[in-house]
Amino acid sequence: MKITLLGTGSPIPDPNRAGPCTLVQAGDRNVLVDCGRGALMRLMAAGVLPAMVDTLLITHLHSDHITDVNDLITTRWVMQLVHTPLNVYGPAGTKAMIDALMRMLELDQQYRHDHHEDLRANGPLEVNVTELGPDERFTIGAASVTTHATDHRPVKPTIGFRLEHEGKVVALAGDTVPCAGVDAMCADADVYVQTVIREDLVNFVAGVVPTGARFKDILDYHSTVEQAAQTATRTGVKRLMLTHYVPPMQPGQEDEWRALAAAHFAGEIILGPDLTSTEI
Ligand SMILES: [Zn+2]
Ligand SMILES: [Zn+2]
Repeated sequence: MKITLLGTGSPIPDPNRAGPCTLVQAGDRNVLVDCGRGALMRLMAAGVLPAMVDTLLITHLHSDHITDVNDLITTRWVMQLVHTPLNVYGPAGTKAMIDALMRMLELDQQYRHDHHEDLRANGPLEVNVTELGPDERFTIGAASVTTHATDHRPVKPTIGFRLEHEGKVVALAGDTVPCAGVDAMCADADVYVQTVIREDLVNFVAGVVPTGARFKDILDYHSTVEQAAQTATRTGVKRLMLTHYVPPMQPGQEDEWRALAAAHFAGEIILGPDLTSTEI
């Protein structure tokens, strides 16, 4: 498997970081986990055409994690020779979100059907949506996936995904504080991907911006770098992959972020710019 951080950003717009999105390539399958701002630009940079993505896993419905789902749905449909529906798995609420997107895209679909004979012959734009709770199991090609409860309250429900392919395991958490569900998802995983924030920097920024109180609230429901590292150690993870850097990790700060994690985790720590990847 290859895991690529397509977008390492957050809700805060950043000139160098796309929104939250991770690509998992398992055998011949290309799976996206969340689909934030600019995801498809990064997907192309990773050498994957939108039409080659067959599955989208959604951890939760916070806007930064789903801003470009419409782009994925439309662009893969327009670029496919033969239309195959995108498979979307996510928590309760995913179906209503996709239904609303499909209504938003009705006119676009009509314009393109009116203009392109072969696209119309492909039939309607379709998406298969499956809503999942925790502790469910499904397959993507030869990969088996289990869902696990995460804790991002008051956002709920939220889930993480444990994906196993040819004996290797990647655990993908989404936004969450440490909890029993994340521990179960991570048990002895080869790679654990966790969205993180820097508590010290969030506190600093909250003290100097007008919306400081709102910014400080995010400490309630994200893992800090240290907490992600502690989870990795507690659960026997081999590699820790950090993403969704809040505040945005600046050039030259990578060692500082890595050191905070390394104080709590002796394994390999992977972080960096968009398109940082690891293979297992
Ligand atoms: Zn969130
Ligand atoms: Zn987020």
